[in-house]
Amino acid sequence: MDFLTRKKRAAAAAKAAGADALLVTHLPDVRYLCGFTGSNAALALRGGRAVLFTDGRYTAQARAEARGTRVVIAKRPAATAACEWLETAKARRCGFDATQTTVAALGSMRKAVSGKVRRGMFVAVDPLIARLREVKDAEEIVRIRKAAALGCRLFDGMLSYIEPGLTEMAVAAELEHRARLAGAEAMSFETIVASGERSALPHGRATRAKLPRQGFVTLDFGVVLDGYMSDMTRTVHLGKTRADEREVYDSVLEAQEAAVAAVAPGVTASEMDEVARSVLRRAGLGKYFSHSTGHGVGLEIHEGPRLAAKQKQVLEEGMVITIEPGVYMPGKFGLRIEDMVLVTSKGGEVLTPSVKAWIEL
Ligand code: ZN
Ligand code: ZN
Repeated sequence: MDFLTRKKRAAAAAKAAGADALLVTHLPDVRYLCGFTGSNAALALRGGRAVLFTDGRYTAQARAEARGTRVVIAKRPAATAACEWLETAKARRCGFDATQTTVAALGSMRKAVSGKVRRGMFVAVDPLIARLREVKDAEEIVRIRKAAALGCRLFDGMLSYIEPGLTEMAVAAELEHRARLAGAEAMSFETIVASGERSALPHGRATRAKLPRQGFVTLDFGVVLDGYMSDMTRTVHLGKTRADEREVYDSVLEAQEAAVAAVAPGVTASEMDEVARSVLRRAGLGKYFSHSTGHGVGLEIHEGPRLAAKQKQVLEEGMVITIEPGVYMPGKFGLRIEDMVLVTSKGGEVLTPSVKAWIEL
């Protein structure tokens, strides 16, 4: 990973935001900028220098992972030590990400510096690192591709396992077990297995409910490989097809495919959302599509851009987004279909090519 370039870009973004230093405490941002994966860290950027502060548990790990960045093992909280260093490095206007900083943390940051510089020292800036992370570089895309491909292999393998009578938990457990054996560091999030009437819950965590003889099973899951996450959803059908279920499925699939086809640099996030939403609206299903169309994915499961109404952000080459329209009819059934799509110079490339056509098990 090209941490030097990333740190330079971060420093330039801070400067453009009117700050002469940057304090980074959100762990995925720290990892992005220097490679450190520990659970306690603060990264201070000032005048072309970057210093990583962590604690004694991570002495060896920090030096191994954050090569190219100075490491300080602090006895005090990492952010406190970072603020003290920033003062000695003559920072006078240090940017921080307000979306990742609690009121308590800001209080501690202010307390860590002396009274004579405290005034105006810490300035809330836009989530600068989150913004940089939205556009993936070549090495990140390699990792994301691998995670997405593993997700597809796991889904394909699960098709011969899923059957009526299994609990949703058993399906989740089997999937997660297979994921770990295949090398996944973790799941991207709690695996969603929602069957029968529960498929109408957009975020139905796996429960003890048994898969029905007739109805949908929605599987939404992701794996983490080398720090990067995958995210995909498929909905399969158990037993005899009913016309109403098939009709809704075909509409969701049409909406999903229309949005995938619309992916291209320059398209706005709200336009993307509208492409999927308008298909479902025309089918009379608009009111059942109760969430946004997609999100960025990378070191975290939900990153920018957010594909939703009123989002003016423009898709850029190198972004990795999900396209995941769904329909949820309370008390009846629901379904969702989700792919990861890489924004390329020509359009979009689907990274999760598992079959989306109607699957009857
Ligand atoms: Zn998902
Ligand atoms: Zn998603």
